Amino acid sequence: MADETAKAQIAQPGGDTIFGKIIRKEIPATLLYEDDQCVAFNDVSPQAPTHILVVPKKPIVQLSQAEEGDAALLGHLMLVAKKVAQEAGLSKGYRIVVNDGPDGGQSVYHIHLHVLGGRTLKWPPG
Ligand code: AMP
Repeated sequence: MADETAKAQIAQPGGDTIFGKIIRKEIPATLLYEDDQCVAFNDVSPQAPTHILVVPKKPIVQLSQAEEGDAALLGHLMLVAKKVAQEAGLSKGYRIVVNDGPDGGQSVYHIHLHVLGGRTLKWPPG
């Protein structure tokens, strides 16, 4: 089982996460983007030549727990993903991924968008 998939099987929702610590600047990360609603930074374990995470400052646990009131924030994350993909030079395209829960491969329970690119990505994903 791939490392991230194994982590997703044992990851537990609830509580503070590594992303909360990055957002609060309690642990160092090079931010590629920041505004009042979200941050973007490189994934520590990249699955493609470009692998950026876009993370809202609001600690929504996972997509399946998002609410109607989060619609504008979720839309904003998509537009920031587009912006960081453009800035990363992904002119031939890219993929946006949101993993949800153990079967979706979620290992960090603070919602985030993966921006993957820089190579031709396979479909279907594993
Ligand atoms: P997911 O499996 O969808 O929950 O994605 C979590 C992602 O966070 C994985 O791709 C990890 O490699 C990444 N990750 C975990 N810790 C860090 C960190 N400190 N800095 C950057 N990325 C991280």
